[in-house]
Amino acid sequence: MTTQARKPRGKNHIWRVGLAALVVLPAVAFAAEQLRFKPGFNLFSREQDVQVGREGVAQVEKEVPLLKDPAVERYVSDLGRRLAGFAPGNTDYPWTFKVVNSREINAFALPGGFVYVNRGVLEAADDEAQLAGVMAHEIGHVTLRHGTHQASQMMLAQMPLAILGGVLGKGSGLTSQLAQLGISFGVNSLLLKNSRGAESQADEIGTYTLYQAGYDPKAMVQFFGIIEKKYPQQGLQFLSDHPNPENRIKKVDQLISQLGPSRQGRTDSPEFQVAKRRLLALPPPPKAKPTGQPSRSTPSGSAVAPPAPSSRRVEYQGDGFVIAYPDNWEVQQSKDGVTLAPPGGVLSGAQAYGASLSNYVPPQKNWGLIDATQQLLDSMRQSNPNLRVVKQTSLKIKGRAALSTLLENDSPLEGQKEADHLVTVRVRDGMLALILVAPQSAADAYRPTFDAMLRSLDLH
Ligand SMILES: [Zn+2]
Repeated sequence: MTTQARKPRGKNHIWRVGLAALVVLPAVAFAAEQLRFKPGFNLFSREQDVQVGREGVAQVEKEVPLLKDPAVERYVSDLGRRLAGFAPGNTDYPWTFKVVNSREINAFALPGGFVYVNRGVLEAADDEAQLAGVMAHEIGHVTLRHGTHQASQMMLAQMPLAILGGVLGKGSGLTSQLAQLGISFGVNSLLLKNSRGAESQADEIGTYTLYQAGYDPKAMVQFFGIIEKKYPQQGLQFLSDHPNPENRIKKVDQLISQLGPSRQGRTDSPEFQVAKRRLLALPPPPKAKPTGQPSRSTPSGSAVAPPAPSSRRVEYQGDGFVIAYPDNWEVQQSKDGVTLAPPGGVLSGAQAYGASLSNYVPPQKNWGLIDATQQLLDSMRQSNPNLRVVKQTSLKIKGRAALSTLLENDSPLEGQKEADHLVTVRVRDGMLALILVAPQSAADAYRPTFDAMLRSLDLH
């Protein structure tokens, strides 16, 4: 089961007009002074960003196939380094830029300067400026330290500061310490998923960096528009991580007017076109790992069943809800909500066992629970084509009208079907969606746990 629900977050402007506006300076320096990019609260040192990033690289490169083409690798690496040189707050990270051999349109960055761009981005981009826009956006996530900022918030929510100091004080094995807190570095990890606010900041840095590097600063958002219109399928992951191009285009346009005098930015280079042609002529990427092959939290090579749910419960306090779950399950937060799963219950980013809770805000103003649930099911079907409704009934959760939908779906475990139970209920400005997932073969074993979780669900 992979879910698509998402909810908007508050806007988070990081740039302000400073006093420098009163001083007469050359145009470029003027723009640089006006924009102040400041990383958020962080428990990690910059050196630790690099350390967790390096450990993440080891994990990520086990999971994704890298493109082995020296000419393209060199081109992307040179472009990335040049852009990083113009990024504000670039403090000597050991920048690396690599190409993932996948046609999916996506890019991501690990803390400390490790940036990955999928082959699909180069193949879909019209020109170098658009590619540079995507890379500059990822560079922005690094210099604003979004990954460790988010990890810090999560740790703070889970532990007293005194213990946190101890965890982060240790020189080595940082990732294993973090793993105990449910913070991991796989391709689908928390550290690569950013809040709406963080995306907006990365857009701003990306646009600023493009301008400083002499590119057309509109190129980044142009590219978002292109993938939304031309490659919606290939860009699914990217669009769900970077939603809402329309709004973003507006915001970036506002920013561009403050960058400095408008000038003819560079859009393309012969090197880009050479690299793009090379890629299009290369053999297609290897097939994605078969579903069922574990990507994280499981020993490699075997899709062993997770340990049985513990009967001891702990509470998870979410945004507008509280739920009790077995104390041997892991918590993985994302911008959309939370996944509660036994170790090994999430395979290649798809949940095979456990629960997930997310907030869904229907697009229209006056919405009903049944319609909104239907919309959610439609959006889930985009990534779960064989999702089928078995039965829908109404129920009450703490006195509120709720909808129970039993579903059948393909399990991420190869050749198996899964039974899903979706419960939707109105909360504040949207709808809370709880999904309970287990392969059909384990449905009976998980039923008592799922029933207890549902009974424990409290809304506020
Ligand atoms: Zn981003």
